[in-house]
Amino acid sequence: MRVLIRGMDGCHPSVMNPRWHWPFYMECWRLMKNLGCCILLRHRVVETRLKSTGVIAAAVLRNLGSNENLTIEATYFLDASELGDLLPLCGAEYRTGAESRKETGEASAPEGASPGNVQSISMCFAMEHLEGEDHVIEAPEMYTYWRDYMPRLNPSWPGKLLSWEAPNPRTMTISHYNFDPHNEVPSLFAGLWSFRRILDREMFEPGFIESDVCMVNWPMIDYMEADILNCTEEERLRSIERAKQLSLSVFYWLQTEAPRPDGGKGWPGLRLRKDIMGTEDGLAKYPYIRESRRIKAEFTVCEHHVAAASRPGEILAAEFEDSIGIGYYRIDLHPSTGGDNYIDVESLPFQIPLGSLIPVEMENMLPAAKNIGTTHITNGCYRLHPVEWNIGEVAGSLVAYCLQKNQTPRSVYRDKGELRLFQEELKKKGIELEWPSDLVLEDGDPHAHARPASK
Ligand SMILES: Cc1cc2nc3c(=O)[nH]c(=O)nc-3n(C[C@H](O)[C@H](O)[C@H](O)COP(=O)(O)OP(=O)(O)OC[C@H]3O[C@@H](n4cnc5c(N)ncnc54)[C@H](O)[C@@H]3O)c2cc1C
Repeated sequence: MRVLIRGMDGCHPSVMNPRWHWPFYMECWRLMKNLGCCILLRHRVVETRLKSTGVIAAAVLRNLGSNENLTIEATYFLDASELGDLLPLCGAEYRTGAESRKETGEASAPEGASPGNVQSISMCFAMEHLEGEDHVIEAPEMYTYWRDYMPRLNPSWPGKLLSWEAPNPRTMTISHYNFDPHNEVPSLFAGLWSFRRILDREMFEPGFIESDVCMVNWPMIDYMEADILNCTEEERLRSIERAKQLSLSVFYWLQTEAPRPDGGKGWPGLRLRKDIMGTEDGLAKYPYIRESRRIKAEFTVCEHHVAAASRPGEILAAEFEDSIGIGYYRIDLHPSTGGDNYIDVESLPFQIPLGSLIPVEMENMLPAAKNIGTTHITNGCYRLHPVEWNIGEVAGSLVAYCLQKNQTPRSVYRDKGELRLFQEELKKKGIELEWPSDLVLEDGDPHAHARPASK
């Protein structure tokens, strides 16, 4: 029997401990180096050359340091970028933002399509708290703008974004977030300090580490003013700058104005951990992207395939005979650039169909992350780490299979015999294609660090 926590990302939180993942990353890196793989850091794909319609001959990568271009020819090209950057460059048909209900038949989809309605991005940061010290930064340029910012969303947001009061994504009732550095009760989701704490001083000899380290990835830093998928490069950079100003403003507000549980204001001892982020401003090097471009696929996963409400009495989502993996997370959409508040829908443990990895027109390009054939709504549960990694592993395996067997991704998808053989290969590699039928779902609300604002 396997127990799964509802609302968590595919497995029990303890299984996602980075301490256990890190050696695995290192092993992957070592294996790739041994195989002679070349990993190009700080390169960005800027152009593709087509051999014929739907067939890429070469991709041009720009070295972001020297600005020099490098052309790579290959038989297959996989896009595992956060934004699905290869898709527009190779002429693939793709979607962004919200599809219409008419197109997808989804209960949570809007009446009309809205390609610019994309989930917010976030510029995260790490901080510590040194009691009695003063680390207050200079007020960010846009501080007053963000301090007074009231999100214009539907359903409405209760007030200012920089506040301890925010809607509970599941119930939309107003919740109060706890925040009390080093003073929160030691339990899961006790408050925002411990919510994404990446270092806990209690785990060391007293005095060995002065402060915990808290990673800030909170609703307050969700930048919902512009999407960075349908814009010029200049606009994209401007939006990221504004998102950075929002995060810095949140940090400054925490230092100076945020209401404290003891009735005071602000924690001047909060200090940005620039060393952890490796940046001068203390913010992450790149925004957290929740929603990317998505290929128009042979098969699109829709809300009714995975939503619990569409499958009364079932414990699993729709069964896909072309399954190439499994995943689980609630449909969790953060406030969006089109003015939607949270869309949070209970889902069931699901499968990943191969059809969602096969682009309708491209023959030698595959999505290898959250850029598969989901919708704006189902991206909300397929955008998570275990799922993206499953997709990436299978995309790589599919290419290897096609090269060995002289097949194409589309022929493997369409020919049932080939599909079975490919699925057998995946199982041999340890990729699970179905959930156990005796799965037990337990409830675990990732928003439980907030309590109803009843005061
Ligand atoms: C702050 C944050 C919190 C998260 N929380 C959770 C969570 O609680 N649970 C969970 O399951 N998942 C979470 N995720 C998502 C999880 O981190 C991702 O699903 C996972 O990292 C995806 O791994 P990946 O290897 O597919 O892509 P990534 O690790 O995102 O790698 C993408 C790579 O593509 C490169 N790239 C981007 N654009 C281009 C381009 N144009 N040309 C060339 N290269 C490019 C980037 O430099 C990067 O190296 C979170 C992510 C973030 C950022």
